[in-house]
Amino acid sequence: MKDKYERLRKWMVDTQIIERDIKDERVIEAMRKIPRHFFVPENIMDDAYDDRALPIGHGQTISQPYIVAFMTESLELKGDEKVLEIGTGSGYQAAILSELTKEVHTIERIEALAKEAEKRFEKLGIKNIKVYIRDGTEGLPQEAPFDRIIITAATPDIPEPLIKQLKEGGILVAPVGDRYSQYLIKITKKGSQFERCTLIPVVFVPLIGKYGWKEK
Ligand code: SAH
Repeated sequence: MKDKYERLRKWMVDTQIIERDIKDERVIEAMRKIPRHFFVPENIMDDAYDDRALPIGHGQTISQPYIVAFMTESLELKGDEKVLEIGTGSGYQAAILSELTKEVHTIERIEALAKEAEKRFEKLGIKNIKVYIRDGTEGLPQEAPFDRIIITAATPDIPEPLIKQLKEGGILVAPVGDRYSQYLIKITKKGSQFERCTLIPVVFVPLIGKYGWKEK
């Protein structure tokens, strides 16, 4: 018999992901596989598959499943990319990415969250994610360039260092706007040019750092 969370996960993928037009089979498979309830505080595990963001402590949130799927699909991963994520949070988005590509580097500024995420990866036997505790708005120069960059916190503008650390032909996805509402922006680097696409409206917690918002 399938366990409760497996059933909830299937329901989440069917009603929130497939029905809303996420088409990339690999993304759908990853959402079917990664146990989202592992990535939320124990007292709200039963809510993990709900159609919304949830609190993960320290004033931060794990994004709504659909938004995770949508951003992941936008990255057009084939399997051999080197990916940088800014805003590890619970680690759920990074875990989804780890299913779809060979190497994930993820940066979190809150040490306790980074440590918890690391423990989750270890427990799940995920070996291709590296977690860094620092200001992600400065990127990760020692590992650059990246094929893909995903920012999972709201930023007033794309931080300049991240644009520099994106590989030729690379894709960057980020919520850009004010502190309380943003649009997902997709940037493709083409030589010295950037193709910029505005996707859907979203609400993320703020990206705080040198090239993001100042801490209040
Ligand atoms: N991707 C996460 C959700 C992100 S919530 C998940 O799957 O659960 C946004 C996260 O970005 C928060 O944990 C916040 O602490 C972090 N953050 C904000 N500013 C940051 C910065 N400059 N560098 C790294 N992480 C940052």
